[in-house]
Amino acid sequence: MSGLFDFGSIGLSDLDEEDIFEDKKQKEKEKLEPPKEEDFLLDKEVECPVCGNKSNQKILKTGKVKLISTDRDLRPKYSILDSGKYEVYQCGVCGYAALAKSFSHISAKQTEMIREGFCTRVKLRSFVQGATYSYEEALERYKLALACAMVRKAKAGEKAYICLKTAWLLRGYAEFKKEQGDTGLLAEIEKAEQDYLGEAYRGFSKAVTVESFPICGMDESTIDYLLAALAFETGNLEASSRLVYKIVQNKNAGSRVKERAINLKDEILAETRRRRNEKSEN
Ligand SMILES: [Zn+2]
Repeated sequence: MSGLFDFGSIGLSDLDEEDIFEDKKQKEKEKLEPPKEEDFLLDKEVECPVCGNKSNQKILKTGKVKLISTDRDLRPKYSILDSGKYEVYQCGVCGYAALAKSFSHISAKQTEMIREGFCTRVKLRSFVQGATYSYEEALERYKLALACAMVRKAKAGEKAYICLKTAWLLRGYAEFKKEQGDTGLLAEIEKAEQDYLGEAYRGFSKAVTVESFPICGMDESTIDYLLAALAFETGNLEASSRLVYKIVQNKNAGSRVKERAINLKDEILAETRRRRNEKSEN
């Protein structure tokens, strides 16, 4: 505070240095004990629609985690934790797993398909139960969810969404490894991320031709943008550029998605130039 609005004029000049909206006590507490991943989690009891077993699933406390950025392909990044680790529910008894939103919503026929084609054959690994999920455990949950989606013949869009989220989790895993200075398995993790991004691209490309919008909660222009980003990530600049053009021309596309598309267009141009220079150098 300064000038007309300083607190010195009322004898409280020490307040001039303070942030009006900051909770000092909370900040000091956070300095002494920095928040941990488990502080943002809670257990939720969920009933398995396949075998009826009730188990606790770790979920995020709503409104507690802070979004810090969004990647080009729409992956949200939060402070302290990787939210992707907590998006799959898994029954510890029969192994049935699915993204939290679709876990309970399977038909009687699909339940039967899971029982016969999955539960009788799956070999479940056990993990040390802690206050959080490790990346290894979270990846296993995604693998089980994708296997279940394949066995119950889920729609292409749903399977593509699991692949996309698996790729995001692998990216988080690679970032975590780098932070730890651990380069073991890094190349394999990065390769797997690329593979899953490729599968997500194939799956969503199929979904837009046979399914109606919204697909996994996303409208047409969001899916178009996601496809453009996935094409870019997997090196298909031509397809990416075509989709960007489609979004920019779409009168119904919102301003945020258009803005993202325009940013992506710049990245496509930069990458095209980089490739051209690389070619001329060789
Ligand atoms: Zn079960």
